[in-house]
Amino acid sequence: MIHRQIDVALGDRSYPIYFGKGFGSSFAPTCQQHGIPERIVILTDSNVAHHYLDPIEKNLRHFKFSVSSIVIPPGEHQKSLSRANQIYTQLLKEGVGRKSAIVALGGGVVGDLAGFVAATYQRGVTLVQVPTTLLAQVDSSVGGKVAVNHPLGKNMIGSFFQPRFVWIDADTLSTLPAREVVCGLGEVAKYGVVFDAEFFAYLETNLERIQQLDPELMLTVQARCCELKAHVVSEDEREQGLRIVLNYGHTVGHALEAAGSYRVLKHGEAVLLGMAAESFIARELGLLPPGDHERIMKLVQRFPLRFGKNSFAPARVLAALTRDKKSIDGKARFVLPVRLGEVQVVDEVGSPVVRASLRQLADVFGTK
Ligand code: ADP
Ligand code: ZN
Repeated sequence: MIHRQIDVALGDRSYPIYFGKGFGSSFAPTCQQHGIPERIVILTDSNVAHHYLDPIEKNLRHFKFSVSSIVIPPGEHQKSLSRANQIYTQLLKEGVGRKSAIVALGGGVVGDLAGFVAATYQRGVTLVQVPTTLLAQVDSSVGGKVAVNHPLGKNMIGSFFQPRFVWIDADTLSTLPAREVVCGLGEVAKYGVVFDAEFFAYLETNLERIQQLDPELMLTVQARCCELKAHVVSEDEREQGLRIVLNYGHTVGHALEAAGSYRVLKHGEAVLLGMAAESFIARELGLLPPGDHERIMKLVQRFPLRFGKNSFAPARVLAALTRDKKSIDGKARFVLPVRLGEVQVVDEVGSPVVRASLRQLADVFGTK
């Protein structure tokens, strides 16, 4: 069953995002409608496979697809060239040809890795994204960014490669660990601040029910985020301009993640903290009215985000900031809110104000 559809307009690479329900029934017919090649390889991780691989495989076989699957261990370090290479080997050994499709069934890690493999294997095969984390559903599965990590940096090897369609299945959220829900909602809140004050207010009103994954509210939230992301991607597929606004919360967020060697904070948690820090910076620079800053802080504080004060150590975070791949000549680039629903790109942010924002994070979110 398909509840809703949102289109990503990219000329002949346009594609729909379906909000569906039923790996056991509706997924395979949707593949047929899209002329997905008969030969399908599902790439997934062991956690996701445990819950969802069986019904999706059965459904595809029932509709006469020839299906095999590759199950990798979970975790960010799977996003590597060596893992991609292993997958190429397996595809070659199985005789998977150009006229085949890769279905990415999983969170952002699986989506990025499977997308990267699909973009490069025999110069590109068909890709279908089936994101199963909230974060991947509202953010990473839409827009065609695919990548693996390099020892010297995350997502350093990659491309833009759009899927044939995205399938967001309502059933997948029920098994998602609580911390992953928080992470997804971090990106959700970001969309409110960057584009849509009304959506931000909706989150303020309904956050508890959303955190409990109320299906009706979740559909509204996912659809709104995808609509906003689809718009940005169709205006700026390759991040030459507008797409950078999605980086709000990410300049400080990435630095916080890196400062903790990616072990302390998960991406969405770091984004929430980054949103708090960057709205503080915006207020200090006189860009953001104090009332709006307070609303952003209050929303962020409603999430379970308590970390050791060390996570906010200014020297480490500042060092990571200048290494960010989006920084220009070692200067970090900030996307700062000027009011709820609107942001501005600012290149000149002095380190004293960044330090002050980190002190504030430590005061508000730091333990011991
Ligand atoms: P992200 O989407 O945040 O980048 P990952 O791909 O690393 O995240 O997925 C986060 C974790 O959640 C992984 O351990 C993954 O196996 C697990 N996971 C993904 N989707 C589900 C789901 N629907 N139910 C249970 N666990 C899931
Ligand atoms: Zn993000």
